[in-house]
Amino acid sequence: MPDSISLQILPTGTMHSDLTWLLLDPTQVMASRAQKDKPAAWVGVPTHCVFIDHPDGKLLWDSGVPRDWETRWAPTGLHDYFPVDEVTEDMWLDSRLKQLGYEPNDIDYLVLSHLHFDHAGQADLWNDASHTKVVCSKDEYDGAFGFEGYNFGAHVKKDYGGLTFDTVEGDTEILPGVTLLQTPGHTWGTMSLQVDLPDSGTMIFTSDAIYRSESYGPPSVGAGIVYDSRKWFASVEKIRSIAEKTNATVVFGHDEEQIKQLKTTPASYT
Ligand SMILES: [Zn+2]
Repeated sequence: MPDSISLQILPTGTMHSDLTWLLLDPTQVMASRAQKDKPAAWVGVPTHCVFIDHPDGKLLWDSGVPRDWETRWAPTGLHDYFPVDEVTEDMWLDSRLKQLGYEPNDIDYLVLSHLHFDHAGQADLWNDASHTKVVCSKDEYDGAFGFEGYNFGAHVKKDYGGLTFDTVEGDTEILPGVTLLQTPGHTWGTMSLQVDLPDSGTMIFTSDAIYRSESYGPPSVGAGIVYDSRKWFASVEKIRSIAEKTNATVVFGHDEEQIKQLKTTPASYT
């Protein structure tokens, strides 16, 4: 393991949504016959990217939400369900890059956990960045380019259609101590990111393989938006197994309580 990796968590704006999208937990979310007027739980859905400065390259994990989310997402109908309504100018990914002192083309690897619009939202900054290797899983690529039209749910081609991808299959150590884990189920090919840090130990960024701590459990509670439920549960247990072996810190994709407990940019994990 190299001794000089540093990792920063970059908050990139918070959506809000009905908790039912995120969590299939009847006791918390759904109304019983005695609660027909129970209001929906409207919760914060923070987004983040991860920047890794590694001796062998600079890696960015995910690309946040787009500045033009309201118009870009309108054709999907989902802009009313996931408004990006808690964000400041300094949080958009293009602002974050400037704070770090980089242009898109300075990044060696842009790895997209999956191609949903709240993870690939500013990936089009890399449309002409010929130096950067843009990486997603083969299964995600095949699904995301395998439909006609503007969008398929939260997959919006405008986000990623202009990129040239390098795809990976199976778990892949992309840099020494930095491993892409195949954790499908949320989408065709959602990946998680394992980073083994010299001081902070192992961190696993689950993206939407696990939205929130309730989904992790144990016991694991199902998530709302899932492409394949059996693969989703298997991926949660895969993450748990790796986390137990490595004593990892597991960072969930959209957990409004957990993100407050973590160090975020400009602080770093080393
Ligand atoms: Zn997603």
